[in-house]
Amino acid sequence: MTAEGARSRSAHDLVVVGAGPYGLSVAAHAAAHGLDPRTFGRPMASWHAMPSGMFLKSEPWASHLSDPAGAYGLDAYAASRGVRAEHGVPLPVDLFAAYGDWFARQAVPALDERLIASVAPAARGFALRTEDGETLRARTVALAVGVLPFLEIPGPCGTAPAVRHPLQPPR
Ligand SMILES: Cc1cc2nc3c(=O)[nH]c(=O)nc-3n(C[C@H](O)[C@H](O)[C@H](O)COP(=O)(O)OP(=O)(O)OC[C@H]3O[C@@H](n4cnc5c(N)ncnc54)[C@H](O)[C@@H]3O)c2cc1C
Repeated sequence: MTAEGARSRSAHDLVVVGAGPYGLSVAAHAAAHGLDPRTFGRPMASWHAMPSGMFLKSEPWASHLSDPAGAYGLDAYAASRGVRAEHGVPLPVDLFAAYGDWFARQAVPALDERLIASVAPAARGFALRTEDGETLRARTVALAVGVLPFLEIPGPCGTAPAVRHPLQPPR
């Protein structure tokens, strides 16, 4: 076997960058189909950053993360906690964030909370570097980094004490 062949064999089938609802769902589907996904990012980070006391805008039926068997839906988590997730009943953001964490534990193998610092094309796939300098290879990369890295508070709103974006850390 050539050196290139050996390197490509050690590459992950899939690296998912981002552990929010979309990244976790992609990883759950990949794992259930026998792939070797590796997922990076702090689970549900943007949801944990939102102020406690907020409620979801979406109805519970539109707020499931996705796994192929449908075993880890929001209603399964809510039932396990003895709470109701039903149409017309606003869902606390804390509950939804905890649901995502639970989903990750149930359905997502090889979750690594480090950030990915860079993704670059490489032979037969991609080379990725973690925030602390580890490099890894992947045949496929799914970027599911969400909105948090792109938070932008325009002009004077950024310093006005009465204004706080829901994803902005407390001042
Ligand atoms: C205030 C607010 C309220 C919302 N309310 C609703 C609602 O009620 N219902 C609804 O359906 N949607 C709502 N949304 C939209 C919501 O953002 C999306 O539905 C959902 O979070 C998108 O999921 P995601 O996985 O794409 O992104 P995110 O949930 O943002 O997750 C992205 C993940 O990627 C990680 N990440 C980012 N960069 C890196 C990196 N370099 N390396 C590793 N990990 C990384 C983050 O840490 C995070 O965990 C709301 C959004 C906001 C801002």
